[in-house]
Amino acid sequence: MKRDFHLVVLLLVIFGCSLASLTLWKVVTSRDRALEEVNIHGLNLTQALSTYSEGIVRQSSLLLLGLVERLETEGSAPAQIERLGMLVRRQQPLMPQLSGVSIFDKQGRWLMSSNRPMPAGANSSDRAYFIHHRDDPSREPFIGPPIRSRSNQEWVITISRRFNDARGEFAGVVAVTLGVENFLRLFGQIEVGQEGAIGLSYTDGSLLVRYPFREQDMGRNFSQSPIYAKYLVDKSVGTASFTSSLDGVERLYAFRKSDRLPLVTTVALGKREALSAWQLEAISSIVVLLGLLGLTGIIGWMLIRDIRRRIEVEGDLRVAQQQLLSSNQQLERLAMKDALTGLANRRCFDETLALEARQAQRDGTPLALMMIDIDHFKLFNDTYGHLAGDACLRDVSQLLEGCVRRPSDLVARYGGEEMGVVLPDTDSEGAVVIAQRMLELLAQRNSVHRSSPFGRITVSVGIACATGPELEQWQSLIETADQALYNAKAAGRNRLAVA
Ligand code: GH3
Ligand code: MG
Ligand code: MG
Repeated sequence: MKRDFHLVVLLLVIFGCSLASLTLWKVVTSRDRALEEVNIHGLNLTQALSTYSEGIVRQSSLLLLGLVERLETEGSAPAQIERLGMLVRRQQPLMPQLSGVSIFDKQGRWLMSSNRPMPAGANSSDRAYFIHHRDDPSREPFIGPPIRSRSNQEWVITISRRFNDARGEFAGVVAVTLGVENFLRLFGQIEVGQEGAIGLSYTDGSLLVRYPFREQDMGRNFSQSPIYAKYLVDKSVGTASFTSSLDGVERLYAFRKSDRLPLVTTVALGKREALSAWQLEAISSIVVLLGLLGLTGIIGWMLIRDIRRRIEVEGDLRVAQQQLLSSNQQLERLAMKDALTGLANRRCFDETLALEARQAQRDGTPLALMMIDIDHFKLFNDTYGHLAGDACLRDVSQLLEGCVRRPSDLVARYGGEEMGVVLPDTDSEGAVVIAQRMLELLAQRNSVHRSSPFGRITVSVGIACATGPELEQWQSLIETADQALYNAKAAGRNRLAVA
């Protein structure tokens, strides 16, 4: 029972622990999977966006290359500019991302603007792209920082090339302006959540476009951000996770540096937002786990309580059983004992004699029986009273019991002042020896009985002995011993007689 109890507790603990660890393991792995999915999604997005941006820049560069070629071969006289203007206006509808194409002379003055009237006296010699081409002989296209368009005040990115005169000297700049608005429109169609962001930057960290658009970010340099300072140092594609120093939001970033152009595309998702579906699932898993653990606990508690109760009942039962057993034994003893003398009673005498008779018959050993009767006991009662008679009876009984030695010998009160002694494995001679010892001891005791002719308490003893088949009828052994007792009485009492 105690073992059952421990087993149940062990089982419950094992079950609870496995359930908890399984659930926690599931929660942790599904979080990792969710993060991985976000990263893969981010990387795919950077791939698509980067291809888009590269395409626009490349188209613009090609357009510029054609314009530079014509400007350098045909010159930049007003007639040529007029023709170029018409060419550009025909091409522009094919490239909806272009806000405009402008040509500047070597002083930065506007020679042409494709989409709107030129502001009078407009000069762009202070623009970064103009300064770059004027001072740098390279013929490569230049992607400039975002600026506010002088013609319509919108944020634009410029891609520009330099053109030279016949002597190879700087003659001016052709520039394509790309509206930031166009990029934002595309980026805005991509779901990045409340905390997400999409960015297109120069490799040095200068921001070109950021969605969602924030005025204060335009032209800002993010070279100190971990993406540029740490991750882009040794790889061009990857993912990262860190807390933004601007708004304190932890984001998952996917970044990709363009292979051929100095552009970096980043897609960022708020980590909390990205994990919100997982979080919901984790919470429900944990609620189910807690429910199951609670249920297990309740069932376990009921089971344990039941086992405890059974242990208690069993303990009580065992105590009751023990009590019953001992009172039974006591009853048994009482049922076998004579209350006055403390000797075995008549019932015990009969049972023992029958038992020993069978045993002796089986073993082929002799069985002796003594019947002892106090002489003139009626007279003793009459002389000293009944109570004194009882005391005398007790006294004689103790004396007789003291004369037998073997544990199998039995001295019993047969009835009145008559005692029977069962002596297993004892022949007549052995019984005679014991009877003589009894008579001798009584003589030594010398208990006064003034009404007796002997002057003291005496007994008469009848001895019978049987072996083998004679024992079949064990009652006849009593009769024989009784007869011998009668003979002893008849012969004058205070003696023994053997049948
Ligand atoms: P004897 O045996 O020598 O022939 O004479 P007796 O006086 O002993 O004769 P009997 O066996 O007929 O008498 C038995 C008497 O023993 C009768 C009864 O008063 C007395 N007696 C029997 N049982 C008890 C007992 O338990 N207590 C007392 N005090 N006396 C008892
Ligand atoms: Mg008598
Ligand atoms: Mg008698």
